[in-house]
Amino acid sequence: MILIVAEHTAGKLAKATLEMVTAARDSGREGPVTLLVLGQNVASVATEAAAVADQVLVADLPQLATYNAEVWAAATTQIAQEGEAHTVIIGGSRSGREYAPRVAVKLDAAYLEDATKLSSNGAALQAQRYTFLARVTETVEADGLVVVTVKPGSFAPAAPAASAGEQYDVELTLPTPRVQVTGKSVEKSSRVALTEADVIVTGGRGVGSPENFARYVEGLADNIGAGVGATRAVVDAGWRPYAEQVGQTGKTVQPKAYIALGVSGAVQHLSGMGKSKNIIAINKDAEAPIFKVADYGIVGDINEIVPALIEASRK
Ligand code: FAD
Repeated sequence: MILIVAEHTAGKLAKATLEMVTAARDSGREGPVTLLVLGQNVASVATEAAAVADQVLVADLPQLATYNAEVWAAATTQIAQEGEAHTVIIGGSRSGREYAPRVAVKLDAAYLEDATKLSSNGAALQAQRYTFLARVTETVEADGLVVVTVKPGSFAPAAPAASAGEQYDVELTLPTPRVQVTGKSVEKSSRVALTEADVIVTGGRGVGSPENFARYVEGLADNIGAGVGATRAVVDAGWRPYAEQVGQTGKTVQPKAYIALGVSGAVQHLSGMGKSKNIIAINKDAEAPIFKVADYGIVGDINEIVPALIEASRK
């Protein structure tokens, strides 16, 4: 079987999980696509998972209330062994990248990190990934048992299947972790996360200043319930945090609509958002490369166009 460890927050399946299901189906590997749901009070997550997977294994335990690398690695390894999984797919989130190598070592499996594409080459699992500061796209493959992490935003989210998969409760033997989480402070943001957003407004250097970024990019995003993205030029200038960077060395996204304000459209930026369903660009330079990928483009000055857009979106 192909075992996927589901990612979820606040009782909802994360978009990254739907992307991993697509990755599993693209892999060409045989056997049921199986989602493993680890957590506490995860019944609603399991129901969502069953809509997209062939089967769902659920471990609903107090020890799984908070993510812990040792515990997640032990649980994933146990289920992979019991189910004789030949492929284990884990999200390329910070936590996924923390425990996935442990799973690979415990299973004595090959480890492929940060796949942006999966396919099969005979019996081998083939993956594409960026390397060398994202200047190189590398194709790698491994035979037999493989643990792979998937770069968020690289695969289209799977749509619900015609019939829901079966759900099974699983029993786990879990270790007492050596590292304990003793406190948590969650940043409160009413804005939708970049990797979950259906609409993203991204600002580039053409926005002009951090103050204009807040006024134009955040102003428009908040009016239309969108996520906020930034180019590397803007992040390097210290206008915005790295968490908002879209591109080869930032996040990969594919929202329904991507609105690029003052973004030139460098190849490193396009590789992170080029799969968006609709790309809308506003740039004063008619020759800017962003217009080559844009579905809708406005050639003009942000300072004139965006205030009018914000005003219109208020209504
Ligand atoms: P610019 O290229 O300076 O473009 C600004 C645009 O704004 C111009 O097209 C201009 O015409 C327009 N403009 C200016 N004023 C106005 C106005 N008043 N109204 C309307 N339009 C206006 N970049 C990323 O974004 N993400 C990455 O992950 C990333 N990774 C990289 C990795 C490597 C290894 C390298 C070498 C580069 C990477 N880059 C990345 C950088 C990338 O090459 C570009 O430098 C960067 O994307 C440019 O950002 P920008 O479009 O904001 O700025």
